[in-house]
Amino acid sequence: MPDVGVATEPKAYTHALSGGRPGATVRVRPLLTGEINAPPAFFRRPDGPLAIPRGLLAPRRLWSPVPIPAFLVDHPGAGPLLIDTGLHASVASAPAASLGTLAARMYDIRMEASQSVPAQLEGLGVEPRSVRAVVMTHLHYDHASGVSAFPEATFVVARAEWDAAASGRMLQGYRPRQFDHAFDWRAIDYASTSLDSFAGFGRSVDLLGDGSIRLVFTPGHSAGHQSVVLRLHDRELLLTGDAAYRRTAIEEGELPLFCADEHLYRRSLSEIRAYVERTPNAVVICGHDPQGWAELDAVYS
Ligand SMILES: [Zn+2]
Repeated sequence: MPDVGVATEPKAYTHALSGGRPGATVRVRPLLTGEINAPPAFFRRPDGPLAIPRGLLAPRRLWSPVPIPAFLVDHPGAGPLLIDTGLHASVASAPAASLGTLAARMYDIRMEASQSVPAQLEGLGVEPRSVRAVVMTHLHYDHASGVSAFPEATFVVARAEWDAAASGRMLQGYRPRQFDHAFDWRAIDYASTSLDSFAGFGRSVDLLGDGSIRLVFTPGHSAGHQSVVLRLHDRELLLTGDAAYRRTAIEEGELPLFCADEHLYRRSLSEIRAYVERTPNAVVICGHDPQGWAELDAVYS
């Protein structure tokens, strides 16, 4: 099978998924699926031309581990859901199978098989096949590697992300065979005029129709990136995904090494900043934040 082009075609996302309950709140459990060793420029790209090769040339002693997360969401009516899938269990022993030989050689990934999402779910007493839905913030290899483990789930992704990823290559962060499975894929058309705004975000989708899980369009890091706002019992929780790798991205507007569209990235970041300002008691979890990860609670409810 060639690396580029996929056989799967998502259905259009046209209506909320089932299981919504008026006033429902969720429990969110961060899952660390592995770590990738990254240079300092991963978070803040160097100024000037050829930022990526120059960023990657930093001496290895300056590189440090960056968390690769996924999130388990418990909803009272929609059952267990996931935000992203993290790394597939095979990455622990044979990374080339999921990531390809080039990436397996290029990236220094640290993972134990017990860190895969299915293994962690089993440890928590959650049957992996009971996961009803998976929201993909985007389809980069460190988020989509574990897709194949959830054949029964409905996957929700932005149409713009699917289109970019389906023809994408590893140099853009995509490995199409990770997600080219004939599962129940639903693609959100964020260009549709019928979408609502929500709390500073210009375009949002109410996943279950009860306000408990809102997807908000935050493109730029990748073509169709989406973040997630979850309703806890007394506050909200924002999962920025890779629209902000770490808290200082929000505070200082730092531009990461990998960014598909700088203009869209900055616009999405300003929407996140507006959300944080108007929702000061919200928990904010960024996509790849080493310091933030160390300070997280095991569960948010
Ligand atoms: Zn990414």
